[in-house]
Amino acid sequence: MKLRVLLVEDDPHVRGFMQEALSVEGFEVLTAASLSEAQAMFRHGGVGLILLDLGLPDGDGEVLLREMRQQGNLPVIVVSARDQEVQKIQLLDAGADDFLTKPFSVGELLARIRVSLRHRGTALLPAVTLHALDDLRVDLQRHVVCLNDAPVHLTPTEYRLLARLVRQAGRVVTHRQLLADVWGAEFTEHTHYLRLYMAQLRAKLERNPAEPRHLLTEAGVGYRLADT
Ligand code: CA
Repeated sequence: MKLRVLLVEDDPHVRGFMQEALSVEGFEVLTAASLSEAQAMFRHGGVGLILLDLGLPDGDGEVLLREMRQQGNLPVIVVSARDQEVQKIQLLDAGADDFLTKPFSVGELLARIRVSLRHRGTALLPAVTLHALDDLRVDLQRHVVCLNDAPVHLTPTEYRLLARLVRQAGRVVTHRQLLADVWGAEFTEHTHYLRLYMAQLRAKLERNPAEPRHLLTEAGVGYRLADT
């Protein structure tokens, strides 16, 4: 069965291009050009994933996000021209799975959708314990990190930080989430810890720490472990 995607976007040009890309990829696409239309379609049911624009003619997409989060756990990817960091964090904390800032490529859009679906699809399976991309290999079960097949020594904190990103590979993890999970709930404001340890991890794991291949920065929001 085709996955039904609800595409909420008021710009006809962007909507058309996204709809076409998604159809080619084999998704069934429903479109909504306003908040009220999107709400009606969402309530009707049968939607498997939502791509949500924020600036809509009759309100803010965030309203729909909050409404959906009260009712279930549908994957939601926010697609917006807004690049305000505070709001990105707010949206992730409000339950968005991910966000894409316009303009973006079709490849980027499809990659985020795949990650989002895979993450949901494996929610009931054992947690991710193995991560391999290019020269990097992380095995959480055996507690081993290798670069070009050579073991890399990490401090316990560096390892916990990397492991946290591995469990959500491909998805952004906010500063707050990382600080809470690696250091503890009382450390969520200590972003300098994160900067320091991320620099150390990059020095050990990246060929060129200034242009990371694995440990990617989402400016002002958090970090993402590359998985493609
Ligand atoms: Ca818009």
